[in-house]
Amino acid sequence: MSESYDVGTRAWQPDATEGWVASEVIKKTVDGSKVLLEFQLENGETKTLEVALEALQSGNSASLPPLMNPTMLEASDDLTNLSHLNEPAVLQAIRLRYAQKEIYTYSGIVLIATNPFARVDSLYVPGMVQVYAGKQRATQAPHLFAIAEEAFMDMLRDGKNQTIVVSGESGAGKTVSAKYIMRYFATRESPDSPGSRVKKGPEAMSKTEEAILATNPIMEAFGNAKTTRNDNSSRFGKYIEIMFDKGTNIIGAKIRTYLLERSRLVFQPLKERNYHIFYQLVAGVSDKERQELGLLPIEQFEYLNQGNTPTIDGVDDKAEFVATKQSLKTIGVSEANQAEIFKLLAGLLHLGNVKISAARNDSVLSATEPALVKACDILGIDAPEFAKWIVKKQLVTRGEKITSNLTQAQAIVVRDSVAKFIYSSLFDWLVEIINQSLATEAVLNKVSSFIGVLDIYGFEHFAKNSFEQFCINYANEKLQQEFNQHVFKLEQEEYLREQIDWTFIDFADNQPCIDLIEGKLGILSLLDEESRLPMGSDEQFVTKLHHNYAADKHKFYKKPRFGKSSFTVCHYAIEVTYESDGFIEKNRDTVPDEHMAVLRASTNKFLGAVLEAASAVREKDVASASSNAVKPVAGRRIGVAVNRKPTLGGIFKSSLIELMSTINSTDVHYIRCIKPNEAKEAWKFEGPMVLSQLRACGVLETVRISCAGYPTRWTYEEFALRYYMLVPSSQWTSEIRQMANAILTKALGAGTGKGLDKYQLGLTKIFFRAGMLAFLENLRTNRL
Ligand code: ADP
Ligand code: MG
Repeated sequence: MSESYDVGTRAWQPDATEGWVASEVIKKTVDGSKVLLEFQLENGETKTLEVALEALQSGNSASLPPLMNPTMLEASDDLTNLSHLNEPAVLQAIRLRYAQKEIYTYSGIVLIATNPFARVDSLYVPGMVQVYAGKQRATQAPHLFAIAEEAFMDMLRDGKNQTIVVSGESGAGKTVSAKYIMRYFATRESPDSPGSRVKKGPEAMSKTEEAILATNPIMEAFGNAKTTRNDNSSRFGKYIEIMFDKGTNIIGAKIRTYLLERSRLVFQPLKERNYHIFYQLVAGVSDKERQELGLLPIEQFEYLNQGNTPTIDGVDDKAEFVATKQSLKTIGVSEANQAEIFKLLAGLLHLGNVKISAARNDSVLSATEPALVKACDILGIDAPEFAKWIVKKQLVTRGEKITSNLTQAQAIVVRDSVAKFIYSSLFDWLVEIINQSLATEAVLNKVSSFIGVLDIYGFEHFAKNSFEQFCINYANEKLQQEFNQHVFKLEQEEYLREQIDWTFIDFADNQPCIDLIEGKLGILSLLDEESRLPMGSDEQFVTKLHHNYAADKHKFYKKPRFGKSSFTVCHYAIEVTYESDGFIEKNRDTVPDEHMAVLRASTNKFLGAVLEAASAVREKDVASASSNAVKPVAGRRIGVAVNRKPTLGGIFKSSLIELMSTINSTDVHYIRCIKPNEAKEAWKFEGPMVLSQLRACGVLETVRISCAGYPTRWTYEEFALRYYMLVPSSQWTSEIRQMANAILTKALGAGTGKGLDKYQLGLTKIFFRAGMLAFLENLRTNRL
């Protein structure tokens, strides 16, 4: 729809601090084939713009500022109701609503949730659950309960499994949202089935519901930590299936986790902490336990003091410890077993304090080093043997064993790798225990359907990006593809159903980028190949990447201009350059065989059980990984392969493929969480930051897709009721289609052959191009 930018037209101008600023045309001068537009900006500035008359008439000039919506539409609770669906208009809607303390906005099927960083109590009171229970989404204000309800109703109606995908960057509010969704299901009464158990709030929950909610504090204690972005940052991804029986009662749950951050156990950046559980433990144990476990103050544990932040504002670690223990009890971990868990944690803390010294180039560690003695005592392992394999390594070549000394730095890496391995095993064990308690055989036999909630890290792009960001962004490419296909399919189905004439535009297909990462000769497979070489190195890995992709000019790969250690992937959201430093080591994620042997011989039965459970989990992953593993291609130099241990990248890939196949077999609902400011300040909105997140989570792309079609839809009735005054009363009729036709002809010149550019008549609805609604509203206002 062309706009003439007459005087009075409101349009958006780019602005460095706000993102966009409002402006109005105050003067328009036509000079032959040129037009001079003068704008008054809201911030007091003025701006002039020269455009070709022809460009103005066709509306095709990229230099024309995007149009603003009529005021009545600006703060629409669904972005797809905006007539001008451009970037600034989208931002404006969310900004205005946020200023009115409305944190939820729809963008078609997607719920956008903007973090208030303040308690909005009225939003989540128990009564609110009943406001949404049993109601159609469109009848209530946007809310995550509405999305939860929609998933629930869809499940009831179609008997199909559902997924709610919650995404967003760190601190955006994913975990809080996911918890409210779980609480919604646990406390929802069924207005539709009279006689069913009536719940009056949390106190009326069943044992199972309580146990499901208890998994949150447990997973957070062991998998969340304070970071600079979020005081309670989840350092793992999670998919929880909430299982329902035929009568829609919740009967169980199953958790799958993704990529727990291992490095945090041994290293925390300034102002960050290790996993909460350690601080809870140190703050909360009894004097007797403190004595037995040899617990020191936080400042004296190397694994806890690096971030120089022992406490979090507003968090009482001692009280949290009580809550964690209570939750463990709720899911059936006995006090004796809890004591074993805490013992193991203490063992790890002592391990971190083991002082390795240096003599010339070699590392030195005596078997009587006090922290080592304490750690080995707790872990039930042989101190001299353990100490030996901290400072030495063994290589087996041509059947011969060669032992060499490690440097101090290498020895510390080995010590830390053992600690990381034990902790990640403990985490896996916990998940396994939770699942054994919530997804028993009996439960699985009764499950009719489930609603899965995915709380997973959104797209990440930092100053320095490493292996973790690579995996996270890979996951987001997969999720984005699923999302695009979903939106695309829904649009197409509606056009088909309404039998309107339409050829669909292409949407940015990111399959080539996914292939680049996970394909046969993709980045992950080259990484695995390099990781399996005894002398594999990060630099060599990057050289291989450049050789394979930069040389072929792969569309989604770039060789950075500077430095030999990095590579760039063109993700759907933005190009990201990854520093290869640490890729190999993180991908291998193993402890030396000699340490494995020492650990396996442990007299600590609990440690044995933990390692066994964790290795069973890994084995399961490997089984699925090897079914899609990359076989070495004939003729490629593989070198002396270290035996085929699963790599972290390989495990992640196969768990992701499995996740996607689960999600694809369900109906999917989307919640996009937005972090509106860096400082975590209440009700503060920073435009550019929000815009970049809207881009990263695909909202802007779907807006673009729908803009290319007919984004505005009205039923004939709605349309006639709103715009009847555009035709003379002599033409008014109660025959609704005839009435609508009369209005369209009058207002838009249907029948002149131009109509199709502007709208199409479907079976039950009229479909309008972007901009048409604003045009009609203008006519209407002038008429009233
Ligand atoms: P993420 O999981 O996306 O990293 P969280 O869900 O942990 O982020 O949220 C970070 C913080 O933001 C929370 O600790 C809380 O203070 C605040 N927050 C998030 N969502 C809400 C909400 N709906 N209402 C109030 N505060 C919220
Ligand atoms: Mg989180």
